[in-house]
Amino acid sequence: MSRVLIIGAGGVAAVTIKKCARLPELFDEIYLASRTVSKCEALQKEVGIDRVKGVFAVDADHASEVVAVINQVKPDLVINLALPYQDLAIMDACLETGVDYLDTANYEPKDVAKFEYSWQWAYQEKFQKAGLMALLGSGFDPGVTNVYTAYAAKHYFDEIHYLDIVDCNGGDHGQAFATNFNPEINIREITQRGRFYENGEWKETDPLSVREDLDYQNIGVRASYLMFHEELESIVKHFPTLKRARFWMTFGDAYLTHLKVLEGIGMTSIEPINFQGQQIVPLEFLKAVLPDPGSLAEGYTGQTCIGTYITGLKDGQEKTIFIYNNCEHAKCHEEVGAQAVSYTTGVPAMIGASLMLNGTWKKPGVWNMEQFDPDPFMDMLNIHGLPWHVIECDSSPFKK
Ligand code: NDP
Repeated sequence: MSRVLIIGAGGVAAVTIKKCARLPELFDEIYLASRTVSKCEALQKEVGIDRVKGVFAVDADHASEVVAVINQVKPDLVINLALPYQDLAIMDACLETGVDYLDTANYEPKDVAKFEYSWQWAYQEKFQKAGLMALLGSGFDPGVTNVYTAYAAKHYFDEIHYLDIVDCNGGDHGQAFATNFNPEINIREITQRGRFYENGEWKETDPLSVREDLDYQNIGVRASYLMFHEELESIVKHFPTLKRARFWMTFGDAYLTHLKVLEGIGMTSIEPINFQGQQIVPLEFLKAVLPDPGSLAEGYTGQTCIGTYITGLKDGQEKTIFIYNNCEHAKCHEEVGAQAVSYTTGVPAMIGASLMLNGTWKKPGVWNMEQFDPDPFMDMLNIHGLPWHVIECDSSPFKK
């Protein structure tokens, strides 16, 4: 029996809350806090006051505000589903109050588009000394893709050499331009320079300049672009036999054209500008006019296919496998009123939290997902709506 405090009340949090609410034996009491308390109240009303016991307004940019809420709730675990900007303040609040921590995205400073684990890994000693645990990146990518890698290394290979994580959204939400999770975070990620790991070093590419046309299970061929994604950093650290690690995401032509125009006119910039005597950040303004990702769920057709290609050695022979999940937008909408991108993130957050609370994944310190035994997580994916499949491929589908 445990008590959790969820911070954030957006698209991902809505899924996690509903999934946690169905497991009363583990998530005995759920509390919800976010910047806009009316969003918490709406979710509490939808899920039921018997399951979501209390809601709070909190600005999680300030550790002291999070400490105040934690002191009222006294949770066993804080599930951070706000934005990456709040990660460190929430980790500080957990340290001050002696509570475990989980998130789905690595810390980013608001004024610099810099994507790395260094800030959160720096908390390792503090969490260890306090006997507390922080689980980083318990979403799909990062999250499930890290667990897929650990599962492949454990069950299919003696040594893994090449990793390609592929993320395809083959869905159609009918909007001219919209992002599937927080627009500000999503556009910051997509417009950064591409980066991949090869033979011990990181190599850079111009943003979205490297393309492969890949055939996705139950979707078909889609243009896929090389990007940097945070799980690459932790996976290459924890699997040092890797010779190359890359991440690919699909984008349609219309999406890329919109993005190019928006970038061209400075709308994706994070540099503040003066507008009628007020400082505004163009990307924050753009976020305010784009559709709320949670609102895309109704009528969203098609599905996602996210997975991990791994090539390595087994008994001296080279082989390649693909581990993946297909997730249908309409099914997610029917089940929890969400689209598949929120669903594929919200469910792993619930699973990571479950494994921490029941002691299966539990050790003091700051950990990435691939550092734990993947098997219990993989079992729970099958039970809670994200079934996975393994294909043994004749060869890698990527150009040499
Ligand atoms: P949303 O924008 O829908 O929700 C974010 C929520 O956080 C909102 O309720 C927002 O409040 C709240 N929030 C923002 N700032 C603060 C603050 N200072 N204090 C308290 N609450 C705050 O985002 P998503 O649900 O789409 O994404 C949530 C997280 O999941 C993000 O970190 C995102 O990067 C991550 N993610 C991870 C993925 C993965 O696979 N690992 C995939 C997709 C997303 P308000 O309503 O006031 O704005």
